[in-house]
Amino acid sequence: MQLNYPKLFQTQAYINGVFVDGDSGTFEVTNPYDGSVIAEVADCTPQQAEQAIQAAAEGFKVWSKYTAGKRSRILRKWYELQLEHADDLARLLTTEQGKPVAEAKGEIRYGASFVEWFAEEAKRIYGDTIPGHASDKRIVTIKQPIGVVAAITPWNFPSAMITRKVAPALASGCTVVIKPAELTPLSALALAQLAQEAGFPAGVLNIVTSNNAPEIGSVMTESKIVRKLSFTGSTKIGKLLMRQCADTVKRLSLELGGNAPFIVFDDADLEEAVSGAVAAKYRNAGQTCICANRIFVQSGIYDAFTEKFAAAVQKQKVGNGLDEGVVVGPMVEEKAVQFVEEVVADAKNKGGKVLTGGQRHGASEGLVYEPTVIIDARVEMSVFSEEIFGPIAPVFKFETEEDVIALANDTNYGLASYFYGRDYARIWRVAEALEYGMVGINTGMISTAVAPFGGIKESGFGREGSKYGIDDYVEIKYLCWGGVK
Ligand code: ADP
Repeated sequence: MQLNYPKLFQTQAYINGVFVDGDSGTFEVTNPYDGSVIAEVADCTPQQAEQAIQAAAEGFKVWSKYTAGKRSRILRKWYELQLEHADDLARLLTTEQGKPVAEAKGEIRYGASFVEWFAEEAKRIYGDTIPGHASDKRIVTIKQPIGVVAAITPWNFPSAMITRKVAPALASGCTVVIKPAELTPLSALALAQLAQEAGFPAGVLNIVTSNNAPEIGSVMTESKIVRKLSFTGSTKIGKLLMRQCADTVKRLSLELGGNAPFIVFDDADLEEAVSGAVAAKYRNAGQTCICANRIFVQSGIYDAFTEKFAAAVQKQKVGNGLDEGVVVGPMVEEKAVQFVEEVVADAKNKGGKVLTGGQRHGASEGLVYEPTVIIDARVEMSVFSEEIFGPIAPVFKFETEEDVIALANDTNYGLASYFYGRDYARIWRVAEALEYGMVGINTGMISTAVAPFGGIKESGFGREGSKYGIDDYVEIKYLCWGGVK
């Protein structure tokens, strides 16, 4: 691969400050656009995961004793290196994951912004003094790092999902062992290279690459040394890991699936709603947990909206993410495309009409699926209940505010939601009624390091980013001072 800084192309695991081979050999990483093999990456054994955990425990003794200022400066350096190498990191990301390179660069900047943010927050982990309950008592709280943190991350944001967990963990004084998704380990290893250069002590950040996620996951969840697991991925695996963590009563942050409603009321600004829907739906070819999954449009503007929306969707250039101007790249793997084909077939069988897309983009581009709009969508269709995770937009018609709130909340998920409208009283009512951790109001783009990202219901718990992000990585300890006479 052509990189300005070839050292970012690391294929070995990163344990205790050194890059090492996997004791199970290697596994292949492929480019989703053309299926070519781009790397043979270290396949680590459970024993190597144990070694990484031990290294993190040793690293904790050093790192947690650093002053917040010292931790902050090293994090800041890591942030600067990510920006300096953003072009290479983006190219690497596109090659293993598929998203268009401009979008990949956006992910690198977004991911780095968490490191910047938490480099700053590291210095602001305050406790309280609380008026005592007796005249001779004084009460103080302090916040301490939880300890060794395990992080399991997905392939859809191979870089940002790591920094979003690792930055608050390291800022708090925790140390981490990361298992990146087997489809996209290269972005993780490039971050490790930059972490080494930024000056983190050995053992503070470890990356255990493996093709056997359940095996490494078991080591992480069973370990008594690991005091917290932070996971982003499917609800199914999140539930499994939650069960596995029960025996050691680990702290958990789970950022799981979503089924985002995107509601357009009659009084919405139509142009804005259309561009918001395109942004919220087709980013990363629809493969994000906050992508609009169900678009609900009020009957008065249904036809006008769907016409403009389909026209905008059709304009998006599809193809190889490395090519200039492409905005929708390939999906990540064959299985994902097949799932999309199933939900589209189901929608068509139940009366849905495809306005644009509805198929793969040609034989030579196997995993590129055309951005699709399906109108006359109905609740019986699988697109209503399933997380689509692909470039398919089903558009449902609704009549009243009450109806659409009931439809929007009729799901086990509760991550992101969106709506467009102008009536300010309704804006408050709807924002309060939506059972979601995040609500985009007249916008389709809600992700930022300064706000708390996270879900409710079966979308998980815990918040990433913002002033709240640190809370997931610290314990509150209360000191009760007696005998103050
Ligand atoms: P996705 O649908 O995004 O692939 P997954 O939940 O399968 O979602 O994957 C997210 C992350 O969880 C990946 O790093 C994957 O390797 C990991 N993973 C999958 N199965 C397990 C498991 N049984 N134990 C631990 N990690 C797992």
